[in-house]
Amino acid sequence: MSLYDVPITKLSGIGEKRAALFRKLGIESVGDMISYYPRSYENWSDTTDIAAVQPEEKCVVRGKVSTPVNTIRISGGRTMAKLSISDDTGYLNLVFFNNKYISSMLRYGETYLFMGKVAYDKYGYQMVSPEFCKETAGDMITPVYHLTAGLNNHMMIRAAKEALSMLPQTIHDPLPEDIRKRYDLCDLSYALNNVHFPTSLNAMEKARHRLIFEELLVLNLGMRMMKSQSREQTAVHLLKDYTAEFIQTLPYELTNAQKRAISDCVADMRDKPSPMNRLIQGDVGSGKTAVCAAVCYHTVKNGFQAAFMAPTEILAQQHFETFSKMFAHTDVRVELLTGSMTAAEKRKTRERIENGESDIVIGTHALVSESTVFHRLGCAITDEQHRFGVAQRARLASKGEHPHVLVLSATPIPRTLGLIIYGDLDITIIDELPPGRTEVDTFFIRTDKRDRALGFLKKQVEEGRQCYIVCPLVEESEGVDVDELKNANDYAAELMLGAFRDISVGILHGKMKAKDKEKVMAQFAKNEISILVSTTVVEVGVDVRNATVMMIENADRFGLSTLHQLRGRVGRGQYKSYCILVSDNKGENTEQRLGVMCRTNNGFEIADMDLKLRGPGDFFGNRQHGLPQLDIADFSDTETLAQSQEAAEALLRFSPDLRDASLRALRAKMRRLFAETENTMN
Ligand code: ADP
Ligand code: MG
Repeated sequence: MSLYDVPITKLSGIGEKRAALFRKLGIESVGDMISYYPRSYENWSDTTDIAAVQPEEKCVVRGKVSTPVNTIRISGGRTMAKLSISDDTGYLNLVFFNNKYISSMLRYGETYLFMGKVAYDKYGYQMVSPEFCKETAGDMITPVYHLTAGLNNHMMIRAAKEALSMLPQTIHDPLPEDIRKRYDLCDLSYALNNVHFPTSLNAMEKARHRLIFEELLVLNLGMRMMKSQSREQTAVHLLKDYTAEFIQTLPYELTNAQKRAISDCVADMRDKPSPMNRLIQGDVGSGKTAVCAAVCYHTVKNGFQAAFMAPTEILAQQHFETFSKMFAHTDVRVELLTGSMTAAEKRKTRERIENGESDIVIGTHALVSESTVFHRLGCAITDEQHRFGVAQRARLASKGEHPHVLVLSATPIPRTLGLIIYGDLDITIIDELPPGRTEVDTFFIRTDKRDRALGFLKKQVEEGRQCYIVCPLVEESEGVDVDELKNANDYAAELMLGAFRDISVGILHGKMKAKDKEKVMAQFAKNEISILVSTTVVEVGVDVRNATVMMIENADRFGLSTLHQLRGRVGRGQYKSYCILVSDNKGENTEQRLGVMCRTNNGFEIADMDLKLRGPGDFFGNRQHGLPQLDIADFSDTETLAQSQEAAEALLRFSPDLRDASLRALRAKMRRLFAETENTMN
């Protein structure tokens, strides 16, 4: 019997009530507990001398209790226990609040390990409510689990220990032995024991590496099998190529990369049995819109409708205007459908769509709502794909009889990752910018240079140009460390009264009503606003060629890909453009990350670095990519990612459907991983 079938209540001390808390963490069985891996570890063997402790840093000190514990009453009926510890280098004060057991647990003259953050204030250095333990031989590296209210780390440790003790002596390892040998991976039993309770740092790394490899392998296998499974049949065959006559009407010559993208699409949609399922990936400003327009025109001329879904109202509006101009001299009817339209407007628009009186429909999420019915949808396009997720893409495609699907992404994704995330899509990369673009010069400054930077913006405005300033927050209340963070409202006010008294300053953020946002963007587009202070909503904003400076406050708070997107807002016209990154974050990582931005304008290079530097964490934020939830792996370990890909290919060559008996356990794991996605996707 599998431990996944043994309920968590079999563990001692876990009754129905506590089991409900474990369930909140997704742990229902003993097997789930075993695969609930720690989020980090505490290394009690890595001690710091008392003389060397740094304020605000978490550390472990080995200290002898050098004063008796002194417990006093403080306000609100609470108690505070104080004592001192010492080592060869000095003394350190400890305080504990509301813990009446301290005096019996910490004995005068004995030595313990203490782990905590050291604060420095008018009373000197002190450690507040540290964890502590007696120094022992084993368990010097302890696991730290994600928790939920009512469950503490000690309970998790106890449950994990007992769960592991229930593992059979020999467990079947889903990774075939030759794979384990080739990639130097430890066996499953070792991995499970050491991922929870490592005997050394080295053992912990070996254990994690193996589990990460396995998980990425399973993910790879799943995505590849999805892709190879026979695709749906399509009835949409666009036989005649109309793109040339459209391209002629454009005011510029297409780049070779644009032409290639268009012909890839035309070939996909011509006479293949299955619909096009293609991703076009191109850096900001690479001209994806013109490619889409050509594809839409081609679709319409062949007798079908095309739908184009954008992630925001502003962007949908902009595409609508661009398309309306492009198709003004043709008989193609372009329609806009967004959530902010009145109910009556929406109803009328939907009627036209259903009756086939619209040819190209541009819109937001409103497009995929139930009430939108297409007359004859031939091609569904989604822009900025990572904001939508696989499920929404699928929903738009379900609006027709297996229409062709085209996905646009301006987020360059490292190849290794693209293979997984877009495993089910064919990929065209637009790797060429339209001619005449100049690179945006990027600078990283500390806040002491901000005034000079603002002076530079002022000069640009005097020369007739426009600037963006991006802040992480809209208003005070949103953040944790609000003092540290610039918020758009206050900042705009500050500028209007100070440095930019004589300049028109506008403000834009996601909490504004769609109408107000549009008004501000329109004013900015007409150069009635010179300086636009905003949140990242401008990331996908409109095309303002006159804007030459993008200044980003608290730049360390943003992912490199977001910074790159933001930077793409400038340098779109003939003027020399600049990006100024402001941050006082002293971390090494910040220097390195913002340094990358200064060094290169190449989106793919930036995406690669982002992945490497960001460390664990979600590449896209919020799992918007729609992939299964991973237990331990993330996509930052590109080397393991590449290895797992190679291994997946080899396994599928050996057994294309994974039905070989030796792969049964892997297959089962794959099913389990993807079964969960099915649930979360709907
Ligand atoms: P993105 O790929 O970021 O969506 P856009 O499609 O918005 O880029 O194009 C950016 C700008 O470049 C637009 O103003 C567009 O008119 C212009 N553009 C697109 N293709 C070309 C080209 N081949 N030559 C010159 N300008 C172009
Ligand atoms: Mg675009």
